[in-house]
Amino acid sequence: MIAPKTLKLSLKSLRDFAKKRLPDETLIELDERDECPLDIVRYMCDPDRLGIQLLFIPEEYGGLGGGAFDVYCICEEMARIDLGIATAVLATFLGSDPITVGASPEQKKHWLSRIASEGLLFAYGATEPEAGSDLGALKTTADPVLQEGRVAGYKINGNKQWISNGGIADAYTVLANTPAGPSWFVVEKDTKGFTHDEPENKHGIRLSNTAALAFNDVYVDADRLLGGVEGQGLNQAQAVFGYTRLMVAAFGLGAGWAALDRAIPYSTKRIQAGAPLSEKQGYTHKLIVPHVLRLEAARSYIEETAERIDAGEGSLNTEGAIAKYMASEAGNAAAEASIQALGGYGYTHEYMVEKISRDVRITTIYEGTSEIMEMTISRDRWQLHLKTRGQYYHEQAQKLEQVHSGCPEVGAEIAALASHALAEVMERARTGRLTRYQHVLLRLGELISYAECAGSLVRRAARLAEGKLNEKANRRFDAAALAVLSRAFAREAAFKVAEEGLRLVAGSGGATDAEMAALETSLRLPAIHRAQAGLIADMDFIADVLYNRAEKNAARAA
Ligand SMILES: Cc1cc2nc3c(=O)[nH]c(=O)nc-3n(C[C@H](O)[C@H](O)[C@H](O)COP(=O)(O)OP(=O)(O)OC[C@H]3O[C@@H](n4cnc5c(N)ncnc54)[C@H](O)[C@@H]3O)c2cc1C
Repeated sequence: MIAPKTLKLSLKSLRDFAKKRLPDETLIELDERDECPLDIVRYMCDPDRLGIQLLFIPEEYGGLGGGAFDVYCICEEMARIDLGIATAVLATFLGSDPITVGASPEQKKHWLSRIASEGLLFAYGATEPEAGSDLGALKTTADPVLQEGRVAGYKINGNKQWISNGGIADAYTVLANTPAGPSWFVVEKDTKGFTHDEPENKHGIRLSNTAALAFNDVYVDADRLLGGVEGQGLNQAQAVFGYTRLMVAAFGLGAGWAALDRAIPYSTKRIQAGAPLSEKQGYTHKLIVPHVLRLEAARSYIEETAERIDAGEGSLNTEGAIAKYMASEAGNAAAEASIQALGGYGYTHEYMVEKISRDVRITTIYEGTSEIMEMTISRDRWQLHLKTRGQYYHEQAQKLEQVHSGCPEVGAEIAALASHALAEVMERARTGRLTRYQHVLLRLGELISYAECAGSLVRRAARLAEGKLNEKANRRFDAAALAVLSRAFAREAAFKVAEEGLRLVAGSGGATDAEMAALETSLRLPAIHRAQAGLIADMDFIADVLYNRAEKNAARAA
């Protein structure tokens, strides 16, 4: 783990560098020219300059040994600068993951030391033209080449699609089918038979290079098979999902905030109907505040998951999926709302929110689409629901009720209502066998994510109030503001879980007319409706915090 002071310094160097070398005009120009600024990417990965990659390389290989929390902080900061450049720089992290997880000690030493000391750029080659979400369908092959009865190397044949850094990387980790199943190989850029296409002309992240790769009888020595054992590739890919999805979650978070941080100051200066837009409740409470709630709910889930990964709780794939799903969806919604918040100006290139909105769009697609996240989340939590005989989310709710008794202002009792309602919806889904409908299964993934993020934000707000928040945690909001944010998001989550859950159950034939009243009671709908009291006042408070209208807060508190 990196010391908080070192992390702070790294983040500051990154911000200073971006201010100097990547002002808006430069970013807009590069975006229009559809150009990946390779010199900038190389500078950022140069160990004698910014050396961003050092943060995630273990110390024994010459890096700083950053953990999941450090990587989240860096990814958020990078995304605030430019998501294309962030993708290019962090693709090395992704590309080296199969090495970190699956390589032999000699392979790790060789490749990770080179990434640290030479700033090698890596690319991660998993996706194929016909194998995207379903990686099991991959067609690229790696056939053993025998010499004197032993495997001396492999011949790789096939194609990869949409590979970040595809046209600029020095080395590639490539997933290919061996006789024993999918396996990871390292292929260097100049290897005979390896070619890449021209960069794709993309909707967003145009400052990143994305290209298709082709392998025609590409020979690699046997020591390029990561881990030295065939057939481990999918497990190795799985083993890092918690971590890598957290990175993309941080991308969504950073880009979403970058858009809002343009909309918020803009609205203080834009006068319409005799007053700044920031004074219009219909504007702030639709275009700004709800997005702040969702982004901060996602942030608390990211921070909690990162802490748990760093504490050695395992790869936490489902939690990584929830973090990615919530943060990327929230980031997209925030960027979209920011265009609206700037009106006609928002629709032009010059004001950047349009570019951010195109850029952040990728976060719900790469590293697993939102729909695949919903499926992953739902399937995993479904198992927990079954194993605990329907008690899992009731138990989570009880824990939140305990938080409420110690810290009554953070909305823990409302987050508990969301969790109780979720348990009831899932139980109805079980008795009615409703998850045979894929739509129900995936929508449950969304409701689970809302309920869990509400719980996480409540815990974060309580920890901040008690002075127990991680030293590296984001501190944009103080304890009073975070308590209000947490309460407001808990209301949204409880309402959504109960009302949409009810709709799903009723809509898929899970409750007869006669059973509806009992279902409504079990969801505690009256309590959830009553918990909405105070919603507008809390949104007013959050708007005042965002716009630094401290005197209003003080008056309200008095
Ligand atoms: C700019 C960019 C950079 C990328 N970088 C990399 C990289 O560096 N390395 C790499 O390996 N890959 C990379 N990818 C690939 C990316 O991970 C895939 O695009 C993604 O996993 C989705 O796969 P697909 O495009 O084949 O879409 P598909 O899997 O065909 O999905 C299309 C749609 O169908 C939905 N869908 C798919 N399966 C199901 C299902 N079973 N049930 C319901 N809905 C479903 C999806 O959610 C999606 O909405 C990149 C992609 C882009 C666009």
